[in-house]
Amino acid sequence: MVKPQPTPETAPYWEGARQGELRVQRCGACGRHYFYPRPACRYCFSQEVHWVTVSGRARLVSYVINQRPMPGLEGLSPVVALVELDEGPRLMTNIVGVEPTPENLPLDLRLQVCFQDDVPVFQPEGVTA
Ligand SMILES: [Zn+2]
Repeated sequence: MVKPQPTPETAPYWEGARQGELRVQRCGACGRHYFYPRPACRYCFSQEVHWVTVSGRARLVSYVINQRPMPGLEGLSPVVALVELDEGPRLMTNIVGVEPTPENLPLDLRLQVCFQDDVPVFQPEGVTA
């Protein structure tokens, strides 16, 4: 599986994933969580930002099902999704643990983070990997 290359901005995210934790940044000035990682708050531009571990609970906002295998990404879930964490940030991810059909993927479906090869992905709540 192709692994994303950590950069200095994203290193704490990948370090968290190795430890089975989903981490995002939270602004100390306005208290909001945000993603993707950046050195200043996306809402108020404060640089007083911290990495925090979030619940890993989310809802399904949007997705596509890739019908064709992607070269080099054969092991990857075909479901590429936009999810919204309970803490607010949205992120692009893969959905696993479910047959990739629209019937199984209603919008607002409750999701829970899990990890595949140290990469955060999401599965429907109540599914055990
Ligand atoms: Zn802020």
